[in-house]
Amino acid sequence: RRQTTGDALHSLLSDLFEEVRHECSGSVADYIPQLAQADPALFGVAFCDVHGRISAVGDSRATYCLQSTSKPLNYCLARNLQAAGRGAPVHEHVGFEPSGRAFNEFCLNAQGLPHNPLINAGAIIVASLIEPAKEPAARFDEVIGFYRRLSGGGAGNIGFDNGVFLSEKHHADRNVALAYHMRQHGAFDGYPTPSQLQDHLDLYFQTCSVTINSEVGAVMAATLANHGTCPTSGEAVVSPYIVKDVLSIMHGCGMYDFSGQFGFTVGLPAKSGVSGAVMLVVPGVGGFCIYSPRLDEHGNSVRGLAFC
Ligand code: GLU
Repeated sequence: RRQTTGDALHSLLSDLFEEVRHECSGSVADYIPQLAQADPALFGVAFCDVHGRISAVGDSRATYCLQSTSKPLNYCLARNLQAAGRGAPVHEHVGFEPSGRAFNEFCLNAQGLPHNPLINAGAIIVASLIEPAKEPAARFDEVIGFYRRLSGGGAGNIGFDNGVFLSEKHHADRNVALAYHMRQHGAFDGYPTPSQLQDHLDLYFQTCSVTINSEVGAVMAATLANHGTCPTSGEAVVSPYIVKDVLSIMHGCGMYDFSGQFGFTVGLPAKSGVSGAVMLVVPGVGGFCIYSPRLDEHGNSVRGLAFC
């Protein structure tokens, strides 16, 4: 157990951790073999406040891949690039609304665009807007560099799981089909060639395959809680107005088909991923990151949800 925030907060985290630890329902994602290998017993919780103080309990340094928790981060990057005049207007290519359908569903809104940036279709579009004219390695480096800045810069705390990436790419029937479905409806910026489309998909799979631990994720969430300024480095990484937008979208769409109920019961912006991660933002206060691989029927971490 590590603790740098106050005793009261740390003992609250520990008590909640103990309460939730006994919850053993749900099952590990198995749509790709690499995720099915995750140790279902892992459970880590970390919190970083807006002053950069971190408190952590359990397997908070266990490494896991971001999966869909990368989606709000990529959205921030695409909006940052747009603001800097280096990217297309994001919301000309993706909507704002909950889809009311599964995260990988074949459905577009009335404008022929994905409903929001946090479902697969929307996240593929967002990936396509990140430096599309650059070569794939430069695009990947741009994303990794952004994740580093969000998490305060510590080198070595952000990795990449090539097995997950190759597996995502190999079992990508649905995501490939979604990409072509969106191309047919004119959702992309321009009309990407099949090889450009593959590069966009690869970037999306790569961002799902980036690895962090809960302590790193907590700093990222705290950056969003702190209006886009990383509390450990003091660097302004995302503009406050973009943070407001991403938190609104996370509030409405971050927890798969449980987002509405999550809004009622927890009432805070969050994003989960099928690796078992949940990032929870308490605006103006701090960010949590919870990791526990067993998922419920919606794809949310059972312990992650219980902890929230
Ligand atoms: N990589 C997954 C997919 O594209 C995303 C899973 C998730 O929702 O975390 O299907």
